[in-house]
Formats: sequence, structure tokens, C-alpha cells
Amino acid sequence: MEIKVLGAHNTESATTRLSGLVIDGKLALDAGSLTSSLAITEQLELRAVLLTHRHYDHLRDIPALGMTRYLNRKPLPVYALQDTLDALSVCLLNGEVYPRFTQRPPENPALVFIPVSPGVEFQIGPYRVLPVAMAHSAPSTGYLVTGEAGASVFYTGDTGSGFAEMITGIRPGLIITELTTPDRYGDDDWSTKHLTPAFLEAELGILKAAWGCLPAVVCVHMYAALEQEIRRELEQVAARLDGDIRPAFEGMVITL
Ligand SMILES: [Zn+2]
Ligand SMILES: [Zn+2]
Repeated sequence: MEIKVLGAHNTESATTRLSGLVIDGKLALDAGSLTSSLAITEQLELRAVLLTHRHYDHLRDIPALGMTRYLNRKPLPVYALQDTLDALSVCLLNGEVYPRFTQRPPENPALVFIPVSPGVEFQIGPYRVLPVAMAHSAPSTGYLVTGEAGASVFYTGDTGSGFAEMITGIRPGLIITELTTPDRYGDDDWSTKHLTPAFLEAELGILKAAWGCLPAVVCVHMYAALEQEIRRELEQVAARLDGDIRPAFEGMVITL
């Protein structure tokens, strides 16, 4: 299994992109950077997109990707919570902001929306996918993706504190987690929406106690303007937990 990080930040700039990962060039996780990072040929190679929640930085490129698939007459399945699919249909693909690609062309629509439910596993080609509910300011799901050979990755999407309890039973080979701001943002309210290094340390401490050791951990969704501060604090977390815990970057490739 090869995982490429397209976007490692929650803020876009000339050198940073919004949330997005691609597994083996086939399966996309979140759509904040799919069209800004992938060639047209790569966009057409995608077999499915999994969305974590309705926030703009995670689904922004679905309309643009829909246009590519529409013009090439190559439908694309989009898996997400019903809440996320509704937001796409009502706010973006509503026939006013952009075409209703879930209905066009009528005989073979460019986007095929498939609702998912936390805890209900499904198969996409060779991948087994398990949605896991996450705590965030909008209905949100992380995904455990397991390949044919048994390699597995868990992607949190956006989450506040509490995600460790949700995944102690599944023990993935790699965790890709959000890590949005430095510790000075870490009041109680923030802990229910996003992670700081201190909040992440608490979660990983729970997992280490449950599993005996930690898998590799890669952090995305960083606020670009404060990335150096986040990185310094994350280094200390990694040292204290004695773990392979790293910040991601655009273009990072991880092989499992
Ligand atoms: Zn969010
Ligand atoms: Zn986000």
C-alpha cells in the first residue's frame, strides 16, 4: 500500500494544500487538494473518494473533479456521511453554484453519492473500509482502510479529543491524524474540535497503554503560519512517547 499526502495543511498557499490523501493512486481520502495536486490522467484513475465531513477544506475539489469526470464520461463514487453528501448537493452541486453532477448526464451521472454509516464496513475493489465516528464540530467520520495484503491505515479527518477510545479495538498499521494548532490554542473548547500536540499526546498515550507500543503516526491539517511551533512541540511529544510521530508534507509518500 502506497499513501501519498497531497495536502498536509488546513490553510492553502503557494506551498501548502488542503486536506487530501491518495492510496495507490486509486482511493482518495478527503478532497481539499485533489484537483490542485493531481494531473487530469490521475484524476481519471481514481476509483473512489471517501469524505470525512462537510467542511470546505475537505470537500472543496469535488465539483472540479466532477467536471473532469463528466467531460470524460467516467462516473466517480463518492462515499461520505449523508450529512456531508447533503451539504455538497445543497450548497455546491445545486445547479446554481455548479452543475448537479449527481444527475448529469441523466443516463450515467458523473458523481455517484454513496452514504456510509459509522461501524458498517464495506469493500471498494481490493480495499476494506470501516468508517469510525469522530468528535468534531460537524458530523464526522474517520476511515480504517485495509489492503489485500493486510496493510492498514487509519485516517482521522478532523477530530477533537477522544478519538483514541474509538480505535483501540482496530489497531491500524499507520495512523494519519489531524494536528491543527500549537498548544497555546488548547482551551477546552478547542479540544472538542481539533488537536494540539498536548491533546494528541494524551490520545496516543491511551493507545500506547492499550497496545503496548504505537504504530507510526503522521500528522496533517497543520495551520501553515504556525507550523514551526507545531513541529517543535510535536518533536517533544515524540520524544516523551518514544514513537515515530512525524509531521506530513505535500508530496510525502508512505509505503506500508
Ligand atoms: Zn472540520
Ligand atoms: Zn479541516
